[in-house]
Amino acid sequence: MTEERKRILPLDKNVVNLIAAGEIIIAPSNALKELLENSIDASATQIEIIIKDGGMKLLQITDNGKGIYKEDLPILCERFTTSKLIEFNDLQNISTYGFRGEALASISHVSQLNIITKTDNDQCAWKSTYKNGDLIGGIENGIKPVAGKTGTIISVEDLFYNVPSRLRALKNSNEEYSSILDVVSKYSIHVENVGFNCQRQGKSLDIMIRKNSNRKDRIRSIYGSNIANNLISVNIEIEENFIKDFGLIKCTGMISNTSFENKKLIQPIFFINHRLIICDPLRRAINSLYSTYLPKGHKPFVYLSLEIKPQNVDVNVHPTKREVRFLNEDEIIDKIIISIDKLLSELDSSRKFLTQQ
Ligand code: ADP
Ligand code: MG
Repeated sequence: MTEERKRILPLDKNVVNLIAAGEIIIAPSNALKELLENSIDASATQIEIIIKDGGMKLLQITDNGKGIYKEDLPILCERFTTSKLIEFNDLQNISTYGFRGEALASISHVSQLNIITKTDNDQCAWKSTYKNGDLIGGIENGIKPVAGKTGTIISVEDLFYNVPSRLRALKNSNEEYSSILDVVSKYSIHVENVGFNCQRQGKSLDIMIRKNSNRKDRIRSIYGSNIANNLISVNIEIEENFIKDFGLIKCTGMISNTSFENKKLIQPIFFINHRLIICDPLRRAINSLYSTYLPKGHKPFVYLSLEIKPQNVDVNVHPTKREVRFLNEDEIIDKIIISIDKLLSELDSSRKFLTQQ
């Protein structure tokens, strides 16, 4: 006897959303990254982050950005609601971090999400709470006036309260907090003209970057003086033809020089079109280049920001937008390596010349 075949039925909306949320929000640091990007997209110049229990109890981010219209609050946490993308083709020229309208929706499916927001036109701030994508209390009772400044405060409480398997898979709260600090550190180096503070609730600040501090001071504040005192600036000259043929428009950054003594691994920091990404081929190429300059076992510090023609970059290959794919990867990596090699070799020969005198 064969078992009766089960009918095909659509999944319940909440199950679909919970599955989708699990792909985007894997750990507290992913949630924080999405919130941080939203604040930067909203033109904030000051961002404060407070964390409790590795982000599992509380992730709170306060910004002084443009705020959210009260009228948008009812659908804010519905999936695929965004103020940033209208047509699919716009994705080619996207200049904001967000575009899918999925982050807040996802977070609201795996936590209790509170939002206080005020635009310049509002007389007061508005507070709302979300669960499973919905505004609690509805349009009539869900939006309450409160005192507040222009900007947005987003508090994510009890992350993964309804996904026990995810909670179990998370590392302890210290490690989750380190991942959060890592994300905030990298953004605070890359995003100039924005001040960043990050702390555990009730504890002292672990990151304090002033809005007007320059990139070198940002690196000093986060990674220490040994690195900051051994940095060289990168600004690769790119010929018109190369831009036209391969799409690399700009490559700038700061990297350690050849006399930097350090045996600790510092993961290279790469931004492509202002997104923090992982690029293994570039990482490997840079490490092997440095190994020809540094004593055995010594590791460099590398921060590079690449601008590539948006139409050559696919930012939508990974749910957490962590990996991006771009055309002419080999040619672009070669170009960067050759230019950095030149920089380092000039440095190295002038150092040898100085020590010979
Ligand atoms: P996306 O960033 O992809 O648009 P999100 O779910 O992250 O999707 O955010 C949905 C919308 O909420 C955004 O398009 C933006 O209009 C608004 N928003 C979210 N966070 C903020 C913030 N900190 N300040 C102002 N607006 C925000
Ligand atoms: Mg977003």
